Amino acid sequence: MRAKNENERIACRYMLWLFVLLLASAAASANDRPLSITGATMGTTYSVKIGTASPGLDPLSGVVTENGRSSIDVLHELIDERLAEIDQRMSTYKVDSEVTIFNSSKSEDWFPVSAETATVVNRALEISAQTNGAFDITVGPLVRLWNFGAGSKANPTVPTGTEIERTQSQTGYSNLDVRLEPPALRKRIPTLEIDLSGIGKGYAVDQIASLLETHRISDYLVEIGGEIRVSGQPAHRSGQANWSLGIEAPRSDTRSVSQVLALTNQAMASSGDYRNFFEVDGVRYSHTIDPRTGRPVQHQFAASTILASDCATADALATAILVMGPNAMEFCNSNGVPALLFERTADLRSISFNSHTSDVFPVDQLRSLSESTAPDFAHILAASIIVIGIAIVGMGIGVIFRNRCIKGSCGGMEGLTDEHGRPLCEGCSNPSPECTNDPTLQQQQPAN
Ligand code: ADP
Ligand code: MG
Repeated sequence: MRAKNENERIACRYMLWLFVLLLASAAASANDRPLSITGATMGTTYSVKIGTASPGLDPLSGVVTENGRSSIDVLHELIDERLAEIDQRMSTYKVDSEVTIFNSSKSEDWFPVSAETATVVNRALEISAQTNGAFDITVGPLVRLWNFGAGSKANPTVPTGTEIERTQSQTGYSNLDVRLEPPALRKRIPTLEIDLSGIGKGYAVDQIASLLETHRISDYLVEIGGEIRVSGQPAHRSGQANWSLGIEAPRSDTRSVSQVLALTNQAMASSGDYRNFFEVDGVRYSHTIDPRTGRPVQHQFAASTILASDCATADALATAILVMGPNAMEFCNSNGVPALLFERTADLRSISFNSHTSDVFPVDQLRSLSESTAPDFAHILAASIIVIGIAIVGMGIGVIFRNRCIKGSCGGMEGLTDEHGRPLCEGCSNPSPECTNDPTLQQQQPAN
């Protein structure tokens, strides 16, 4: 009887160590979540997530003890500084930004700007040419006429046809020149203005992505006001190979995700007519202007989601493709642009939509919301192991350190018998009446 008891204690010890190991691996898996940095910029919010396998940071603590500050805090500061620098160059809201100063100048000579403003303007002009003017950063005066952007009033009115024509004559991307070396811009008409709102957030996303990469962070998600770029993986140990990006349903009455796209090493940007708009006499006027008509877009296409290798391109194309509306799919298919478009099935207030995808859109990576929110098997397993492990470790500690039997009512154990039909008493702290007369039991039961 003694030898049997000794074996049980040894087995119990092994079980304890096994569960300690399982517990440690389950706890590590539960900790396998991206680190997060959030803040405000460009009149909106930003979010940066860092995958747990990025070599640039200690993924579990994020701590570098230099000057007593964590590497996450240092990174947060670097991100804020870089975003402030871009905003100071490209904002149309700041009175002293490079763009505002260029806009207020009436000179038709070369106007020196920073290399990055020239780079963004150059990319914007390329996209204007590619989209046949659907994307046009010279729409600024029209944006203002329609009461959007900096200086918008509380009660907007619809401008007259004459006002629209007059304002439209001050626009046109062919009236703008850019030079990269030395960086400068030039107006061909003195009243020309630029508005980088349709490409600036995407450009800033790309810049934060390269800032992370210079700090050896290769697994990340960068998001500014809904424009996103992802690289690598969110979590390695639990085998999440892609980032899950929510695509918003184009509804102005609520914020909800309609689908989830699993993506990595790509950028995604969306444009829609359902957030920034005003209504007069049942007509919706959104902040996306068709430069060819001088008016906000008026069609059944409510939103576009575009993928590209860089976010500046995705951002600008999302606006351009929303402008194109019914002609967008033909453009996307002939230019190899991955696009998802939402088209209203009825009037403006309709909450039912048809979605259309271009030929190269990765539909196999799209999932419905219910599929994507189901807890994955790895996390259910990790949680189960933790709960069972804690229980068994607790019991094991009792056995090892106090040589104590498993406590509790024992339920069915009380009724168990050995090969001779005698009750098995030693496993139970609440023994059956037969046990109380068993001399071996008296011997094994430690004093409470
Ligand atoms: P969205 O979420 O619709 O992409 P963005 O903020 O990225 O919104 O860009 C929309 C802004 O771009 C507008 O507020 C306006 O300042 C500017 N804009 C509007 N129409 C155009 C256009 N056709 N081309 C370039 N920029 C535009
Ligand atoms: Mg955009």
